[in-house]
Amino acid sequence: MPVGGTGRQPVRLRLDGGVIESAGNVVFALDAGANRTVLLGAHYDHLGLGGPLSREILTQAVHNGADDNASGVALLLRLAFRQSALPAKDRTNLVVVAFGAEEEGLHGSAALLDAGWIDPNTLVAALNFDMVGRLDALAPVLALEGVQEFPAWRQVLSAVPPPSFTVRTEGHIVPGGSDHCTFATAGVPVLSFSTGQTDDYHRPSDDVERLNWQGLGAIERYAGAVLDALVLVPVDLRQRPADAGVSAAN
Ligand SMILES: [Zn+2]
Repeated sequence: MPVGGTGRQPVRLRLDGGVIESAGNVVFALDAGANRTVLLGAHYDHLGLGGPLSREILTQAVHNGADDNASGVALLLRLAFRQSALPAKDRTNLVVVAFGAEEEGLHGSAALLDAGWIDPNTLVAALNFDMVGRLDALAPVLALEGVQEFPAWRQVLSAVPPPSFTVRTEGHIVPGGSDHCTFATAGVPVLSFSTGQTDDYHRPSDDVERLNWQGLGAIERYAGAVLDALVLVPVDLRQRPADAGVSAAN
């Protein structure tokens, strides 16, 4: 396994000139004895009592962040359990990371690479889950980022059984959007899963009663099937169209 360590990795970040050292990533590894390693990630921090990142900046209230991003962490843990129950031959090695300090600027994922806990060149892919709890009941759409930048994902996704919701892959990676951006910048093929921003985004009303539990379960099963497909269709996701002999228009 190419991961340098498991457990809690401290993350230092500087805010308004002061240094806060209380942030941290939680990292664990599931070794399948495979020659391919996939990182699964979701950020677990949110906004505390509000502050400048809240959309209700004058309200001091607990921001639970049920969708952003307890939903992603729940999915991350369920996915890790699912994978650990599979025979080793049916899975890749996994590095599972709950990132801290995402909201303030992707500090957790940056720290993971900066500290050398993992060499990005050893990763086949990095999957990120940020806000996956609000699948619309009437028009259910899951947005995936990363397919435009790493088009070989299409070969993997075409091996996944069609889910009960629409999968949208047209979106480009939005810089600074979430921790997958850190890995994409480092050249790692990323796939980010999200049901998108709602009116409750970064408000105290982003709470548990608004979540679509069935939708969350459906996305978890889909993400599991994507991991299965990574074993069944072991393409090089770093491969660009030009590498595959498709010449660009001059
Ligand atoms: Zn988030």
